Amino acid sequence: MTPSIHDQIYYPVSAERMVRGEGVYLYDEHGRQYIDCASATFNLSLGYSHPAVVKAIQKQAELLIHTTSAFQTDPVNQVVARLIGESPANLVKAHLKVGGGSEANEGAIKMAQFATGRREVVSLFRSHHGQTMMMASYSGNAFRKAPFPMPYPGSLQVPDPYCFRCFYGQQRQTCGLMCVERIDDFLEYASGGQVAAMIVEPISGNGGNIVAPDGYLPRLRRFCDEHDIVLILDEVQTGIGRTGQMFAAQHFGVEPDAITLGKGLGGSGAQVAAILTNDRLAGLPAHHHSFTYGGNSLAAAAAVATLDIVAEPAFLANVRATGAHILARLGDLRGRHRAIGDVRGVGLMIGVELVEPDGAPAVALTNEIARRGMAHGLVLRTSRYGYGNVLKIRPPLILTHSQADDICDRLDALLREVAA
Ligand code: PMP
Repeated sequence: MTPSIHDQIYYPVSAERMVRGEGVYLYDEHGRQYIDCASATFNLSLGYSHPAVVKAIQKQAELLIHTTSAFQTDPVNQVVARLIGESPANLVKAHLKVGGGSEANEGAIKMAQFATGRREVVSLFRSHHGQTMMMASYSGNAFRKAPFPMPYPGSLQVPDPYCFRCFYGQQRQTCGLMCVERIDDFLEYASGGQVAAMIVEPISGNGGNIVAPDGYLPRLRRFCDEHDIVLILDEVQTGIGRTGQMFAAQHFGVEPDAITLGKGLGGSGAQVAAILTNDRLAGLPAHHHSFTYGGNSLAAAAAVATLDIVAEPAFLANVRATGAHILARLGDLRGRHRAIGDVRGVGLMIGVELVEPDGAPAVALTNEIARRGMAHGLVLRTSRYGYGNVLKIRPPLILTHSQADDICDRLDALLREVAA
C-alpha cells in the first residue's frame, strides 16, 4: 500500500489539495472554489497569481536570477529606493539580505543591541515575531512554552493593549494608557536595566488581531525615547497596504526606529523581506546578518510590482473602504450572533473574537468554525498565539465590495449552522 501524504509530510495538511489560484480564490482538485480570508498570513496580499507580479517575475527570470547582494541589480535597487521613499521620513536604510519575517526581526534586534550596547528586549504578551530561536525567545508567552529551551536571555513581556480584555481592568476612555505607563514597573522590577529594544506589532498578527488603541503607539514612542529604548515595529503582517496605508506606522502616526517587513511585500507569494532602519541603527556591519535567499532579484522584481500597485492612492482607498464595509457588516452580525464578542480591525486586517455565554474565550467553537469554513468556501484561520478564539478576516487587498459581502454572508450562514 502506498503511504499517504499525511504519513510522510512532517506537518499537518488539510484533506483538500489545491491546484490553482486566481485573484482572491483558491481552487481544489475537484474545482471547488474557496475565498482566502487569511492572505495576510499566507503572504498573498495581492491574491493569487496577480498578473503584474507574475509578469514581473517572468521578465526577471529571463533576464537575471541572482541571489548575491555583492552586485547591484535593478530590482533590488528599486525596492530599496521605493521602500525608503514610502516609509516614515526617519527611516533611511533598507536591508534586504533577509529571507523572511523572523530574519528581519532578528536583524533589527541585533542592530538595536549593537547601537545601544544593551541586550534585553521587551515584547508584548500575545506577540508573535517568528519561530527562529531568537524570535521565539522574544515573542509572547505561547511561544516560550515550547518543548525545547528558549536560549535568549533578557526577554521581557509586558501587557498588550487588549482593550476588550484589559489586563488592568480599565475602560479605554479613562485608562490613561496604563498599558504604557506601567511598563516602567516592569523595567524596574523585571528587567536587568539593560533594555535595548521594544518590538511591537501595530495589530497583532497571530495573537488575536489586537489593535493598538488611539494614542498608544505615539505614547509608546515617547516612552521609548524617555528610556533610550529602540522602537521596532514588526509590520510583517500590517505592512504594504494591509491597513489602507502603505505602513501601519502611518495609520497610527508613529515614527519607529525600524520597521520589519515580510509576507505582504511579495504580493503574490514571492519570498522577500526587509528591515528599514534609521541612521542610528545602521551601524551593525552587514556581514553579521546576511542570508542567502535575501535580496534575490527574482523576489525583488515581484516586490517592485507589488509596491507599484499598492502605492496607488485609489488602491489604498479601496482597502480602507472595503475594510470599513466588512467591519460594519460584521458589527451587524455581532448584534445577531451571541457568540461574537468583539469585532476589530483596520483596513483589511480584521479579527472576530468569539466568546462563551459568560464572556470566556470560545476556543473550541472558533476552531470548529475555521474547520467548517472549507465546506462554506472560506479559508479561515484562527489567532493561535492569543487565546485562539479570534477568526482572522484578512483577505487579499484586491477584494471587491461584492466579494466582501460574499465573505460576510457565508460567515453568517456558518455561524447560524454552528449555533443550530
Ligand atoms: N512577525 C509576524 C507579525 C508574523 O506574523 C510572522 C509570521 N507569522 C513573523 C514575524 C515571522 O515571519 P516568517 O515566518 O517569514 O519568518
